Amino acid sequence: MIHTLGVVGAGVMGRGVAQAAAQKGMRVVLVDISDDILAAADNDIRQAIRFAAMLDKKSPSESADDVCARITFTTDLNQLALVDFLVENVSEKVSIKRALYPQLDRICKDDCVFAVNTSAISITRVGSWTQRASKVVGMHFMNPVPMKPLVEVIRAHHTSEASINTAKQFLAQLGKEAIVVNDMPGFVSNRILMLTVNEAVFVVQDQVSTPRDVDRIFKGCFGHKMGPLETADLIGLDTILFSLDVLYESYNDPKFRPAPLLRKMVDAGLFGRKSGEGFFKYPTLHQAVLSKPTSTTVVEKK
Ligand code: NAD
Repeated sequence: MIHTLGVVGAGVMGRGVAQAAAQKGMRVVLVDISDDILAAADNDIRQAIRFAAMLDKKSPSESADDVCARITFTTDLNQLALVDFLVENVSEKVSIKRALYPQLDRICKDDCVFAVNTSAISITRVGSWTQRASKVVGMHFMNPVPMKPLVEVIRAHHTSEASINTAKQFLAQLGKEAIVVNDMPGFVSNRILMLTVNEAVFVVQDQVSTPRDVDRIFKGCFGHKMGPLETADLIGLDTILFSLDVLYESYNDPKFRPAPLLRKMVDAGLFGRKSGEGFFKYPTLHQAVLSKPTSTTVVEKK
């Protein structure tokens, strides 16, 4: 049973993980690098709880104040010293994760399992940055975390069966189901999804179609709930770009080379929902958690 959870990274995913765990009664230590980011996370979690309560009038839910009272927002990694389980959600850059893990390894209890929330980085590689490779497991949450029932759990080369079981128990506490897969960069979901999203960007770049019509084809013809470009905006175009860079470097395969339009949009600060604009425009950050895009952006002209 996990009583106290450590969550590192308070961006899109870390906020969701912290919220989901606090709503299930766990104490959470949420760490990021600046007080401003933590204040935005606090605000965002409160709004997400209020919106969810508005949509689900049947089940009584705790107030946002009560849920957030269980979360310690801090920039001090040392506060992770006593957590039972840790979910790491920092940016999808190998250099950033690489610098963090030896610190976590030093600070956290010896029996604390590290769950790596990454889009593409090999979990075996992350394990090699610690002295506890058997206690490092991949935990690829889906976005938005509180609303998604399935999680891809990745068994790295040295991950023990005990750590896989701990990960499954933690997810069961969150009310989520695990699908366990073996470790290769991108795992199952993103090895396939990133290629689809990248090709959709190439299609827009080549002016074959507009973002809206690309997505309409996937929704109307294939029955997908969201098109690839709406999905990209939800994930974050920066995260998509970093993930493609990781896949390209990991497999040395040109099929993973990012579309130049994707890089251009990231350079322009168009990160998708979290920045208010990507392939589509979004009204505000908190509405973006639950809303659909309001209008298309003519990315071809950027
Ligand atoms: P994000 O950019 O929204 O947030 C990352 C956060 O990490 C930022 O707030 C940043 O300040 C923080 N950070 C960076 N270095 C740090 C450090 N040393 N210590 C503490 N915090 C630090 O990214 P995200 O979308 O939340 O993604 C986080 C991870 O989850 C990535 O590895 C990503 O690939 C993965 N992921 C993302 C999605 C998605 O849909 N966005 C889905 C599944 C997995």
